[in-house]
Amino acid sequence: MFKYAAPYQWPKGYTSAAVFSADVDGESPYIWRNRGKTVETLGEIEQRRFGPRVGLSRILGLCEEMGIKGSFYVPGWIAKTYPEILPAIAGGGHEAAAHGYFHERVDELGEAENDLILDRSIKVFKSQIGKAPVGYRSPSWELTPTVHKCLRKRRFLYDSSLMGMDHPYSLDGLAEIPVQWFIDDAPYFRYVGGPVDKAPPANPASVLEAWTEEFEATRETNGLFMITIHPWISGRGQRVRMLRKLLTKVCTTRGVWVTTAEEVARYHQKSANAKTFAMKLKLVSTDVSL
Ligand SMILES: [Zn+2]
Repeated sequence: MFKYAAPYQWPKGYTSAAVFSADVDGESPYIWRNRGKTVETLGEIEQRRFGPRVGLSRILGLCEEMGIKGSFYVPGWIAKTYPEILPAIAGGGHEAAAHGYFHERVDELGEAENDLILDRSIKVFKSQIGKAPVGYRSPSWELTPTVHKCLRKRRFLYDSSLMGMDHPYSLDGLAEIPVQWFIDDAPYFRYVGGPVDKAPPANPASVLEAWTEEFEATRETNGLFMITIHPWISGRGQRVRMLRKLLTKVCTTRGVWVTTAEEVARYHQKSANAKTFAMKLKLVSTDVSL
């Protein structure tokens, strides 16, 4: 009856998967948000610069300590501004993937602008690490059919911005490696001391408990545990300690395939799952006339 309720089939020996991913945004979203304005305040921008300056190296160090390879989504502008970032990610054997150029909102731009953004990003990746990204994650996890088309035109292997399922699926032939807001660090820890902050930063101990519970639930449903962090948010003391505890649990649990989003996408595309969980990309009709 429920066409897509079948369990996802992981490679032999695995019953679920886990991907550690980081969106290396730094100050790029702030620059996009304030584009064209004169900015004379340093509070948020310096907080965000902590990511490229310090946070990322701590997160890469944690991955090395844990013996895992992660997926790192880097806006082109960040890569260009901090030219050590992409080589450090690729040099550590991790996946470096696209995440917009200025961390722009893709739904505010047309096809030509989105084409330009992707091409500019690809050019930076090629010049710094010698290869184009195969994975894409949209800034702020917003996507449009236009951008999806731009990705397919460039033969991206996968997108990782949507939440239509809690394991990989296919949208118009492009692999979707889904994300989840409740295993993203931003809703819990992002705090810039301004009107957008609804509550103080969460206690890492309670986040560890919630994320561990989600990890167990993912195993029960043969799903994908896609952790998303931001080095400017989670590259700090007690959050790094929390991630160490979480990753220790993930890496020592049998039957969990701990890998990159790229590897998951490559497996998905050649497995029977690509057909079982194939969907058509479509927008909903907003005609509500009776
Ligand atoms: Zn981002």
